[in-house]
Amino acid sequence: MAESLEEAKQEVRQLRAQLDQWAKAYYEQDAPVVEDHVYDEKYARLLELEAAYPELKSADSITQRVGGEVNSDLPKVEHQVPMLSMGDVFSKEELAEFDQRVQKAIGHPVAYNVELKIDGLSLSLEYEEGRLKRASTRGNGQVGEDVTKNVKYIKDVPQKLPKAITTEVRGECYMSKEAFAKLNQERDEAGESIFANPRNAAAGSLRQLDPKVTKKRQLSTFIYTWINPPAGIDSQHQAICEMAKLGFHTNENGRRLENLADVYDYIDEFTKKRDSLPYVIDGIVLKVDDLALQADLGNTVKVPRWEIAYKFPPEEEETVVREIEWTV
Ligand code: NAD
Repeated sequence: MAESLEEAKQEVRQLRAQLDQWAKAYYEQDAPVVEDHVYDEKYARLLELEAAYPELKSADSITQRVGGEVNSDLPKVEHQVPMLSMGDVFSKEELAEFDQRVQKAIGHPVAYNVELKIDGLSLSLEYEEGRLKRASTRGNGQVGEDVTKNVKYIKDVPQKLPKAITTEVRGECYMSKEAFAKLNQERDEAGESIFANPRNAAAGSLRQLDPKVTKKRQLSTFIYTWINPPAGIDSQHQAICEMAKLGFHTNENGRRLENLADVYDYIDEFTKKRDSLPYVIDGIVLKVDDLALQADLGNTVKVPRWEIAYKFPPEEEETVVREIEWTV
């Protein structure tokens, strides 16, 4: 920890400037300049300093904002319900602390729906009378980008639902490892720059002004959030099962787990399996399963209090991303 307030102020200033620059490259240009774990470590340090020196907190800080600025030429969409970020932890001990916080707030132990954390970008799908009306990215959480025309070329997104319902679902748009390798090979052969990883390839392919570009790329989705589920759907687990019945592509590995010991086993299982999955995951997500309890717990300005991501430790051999000089 910094020794004095003055030193902390200096470090906070440097961290914010550095993280802002990295976030801009990542969210707005789909071209990260450092590995995620480097970003995550600096972000965690900023959080630590802001907690130790509350006088240094600021609404401008990246710890209080979602995503990046929405300055692409795509049309803008105002989200009726904000699209938030997610808190993260890096150890089982921190996960246990999250569980303690939830139990303290609720007053009793809760069951969690545990899901894979897909490394892509958030996508909102709005249906009117059963027809896809609008698709949008998260953007800065309040305002996203309209990608409706592009989403028409994602094969697993239903254009029409079996029921004429008006509703919104959200999930992750991602590129499979196979599609990513193929795309980068083609780009390399054409002398074009290659994407750093499937997440950035997915974002770069979806956030296109020309839908024909999206059409040529193979994007997929996993849908995991139902914004306004019909009466009778009381849990996250049930919501996912029902969304699958409506034709959405949902991930088959989600599980409702009653205690932390089972959650730890799930983490160990998917730490072993992650390389063999056909898509990239960067962790697992723990969600309070009961939707009414989720509503009770609510959100901070940036993250829901009822869910947390456990991020896997960095892999030894990671995709090399270009390093740039940065100044603060
Ligand atoms: P996040 O990506 O860590 O977590 C939130 C997102 O997880 C959600 O918005 C959703 O899109 C996604 N998600 C995937 N599977 C999900 C599931 N099953 N349920 C719910 N959500 C699921 O948070 P963020 O705010 O988008 O980004 C922060 C992270 O982005 C950082 O922790 C860092 O790893 C990375 N980042 C990296 C750089 C860099 O320079 N490398 C810069 C900025 C951010």
